[in-house]
Amino acid sequence: MASWVELDLAALAENLGQLRGVVGASVRVGAVIKGNAYGHGLQACLPALHAHADVLYAIQAQEALAVRALEAERGLEPKQVVVIGAFLPEEAVALAAADVVCVVADASGADAATAVATAGGPPLRVHVHLDTGLSREGFLPEQVASGLAWLADAGDAVRVEGVLTHFADTEDVTEQRQALAQLSAFERGCEALVAHLEALGRPTTLERHAAASAPALVLPQSRFDVVRVGISAYGLWPSRETRLSARQVLGVVPVLRPVLTWRAPIQAVKRVPAGSYVGYGCTHRCSHDTDVAVLPVGYWDGYPRLASGRAHVLVRGARCPVLGRVMMNHIVVDVTGVVGAARGDVATLLGHDAEEQITAEEMAGWAQTIHYEIVTRLGAHLRREVVARAAMPVAVG
Ligand SMILES: *Cc1c(COP(=O)(O)O)cnc(C)c1O
Repeated sequence: MASWVELDLAALAENLGQLRGVVGASVRVGAVIKGNAYGHGLQACLPALHAHADVLYAIQAQEALAVRALEAERGLEPKQVVVIGAFLPEEAVALAAADVVCVVADASGADAATAVATAGGPPLRVHVHLDTGLSREGFLPEQVASGLAWLADAGDAVRVEGVLTHFADTEDVTEQRQALAQLSAFERGCEALVAHLEALGRPTTLERHAAASAPALVLPQSRFDVVRVGISAYGLWPSRETRLSARQVLGVVPVLRPVLTWRAPIQAVKRVPAGSYVGYGCTHRCSHDTDVAVLPVGYWDGYPRLASGRAHVLVRGARCPVLGRVMMNHIVVDVTGVVGAARGDVATLLGHDAEEQITAEEMAGWAQTIHYEIVTRLGAHLRREVVARAAMPVAVG
């Protein structure tokens, strides 16, 4: 017995449709597939992501190659695929051969260029990452020419086709002062890049992109040619502030529907007498005779241990507290008063059951983290089940 993840891929399509409506027809919509598709399960989500996004953004080479494998297997038209994370020279050779765009963020691009030139295959398609204020990857605007001096020697092995940046502070705020400063740094960096390419006699037409979900939704001047949406494609708002800003900026709040539901079967129900302790550390003591249900899910599966003593699950449409500590492979919940609760019932850990709902945001609150971490930490080992609609729980044998 194990918990499983249900995926409503129609919601994924609808969310991308909503985002398309927001950014308008002149801006392409790219979906971010990193983190095992934000924990949803890359293999299960990929057909829908491929069908409904214009570009797919991976963090690792292997994710990008998984897209190409799916296309080959199903005879699909190849989509633009971009690796936004770091890669090794040997990965660059494979990515060039697969016609995947790589993001070059520092002088190590020179090693990739050498490897690609030596391999003698197709050129490496490159987007240049500019660090405009996150202090993560990318060239500072004033270092573009020196940081990319090696392009002069790369010859035909490298083609610079785009430029990007990433915002530091668009989710936690309702005023975008930092983002506006980053946009002007981006402008300076783009000018420096174009000047450098011109000096090298290279093409200067560049695809520009900067916006993740929050800026794509609430900062129109950040959208450029294409937006890179992650969390919102999966039906989650980046933050409450983004939702509030969307109402102000767009006049309406787009409808985002969570793609993911997480369920677990009840493996046992029993009554323990008043005074019993529950779980490791004896952190919970039952004040009355208590019907406890044991669920085969724990922190190994991504159920946060910090939610111990705070979390709820849904059983038969009722909220049931998690008693005591979250264990590696188990949680124990209080089903006292849930009429008929029994082995085989399906508990909902995240998602809807009848009128009740547990959101990733709520679980993040219990675990003192953000919903991004809640979903991306869902175990890759959990079974993914594609469902037509978020199904109502039914008993399993
Ligand atoms: C993760 C990421 C995104 C997507 O962010 P969301 O807030 O999930 O939409 C976009 N761009 C880059 C560079 C990222 O790392």
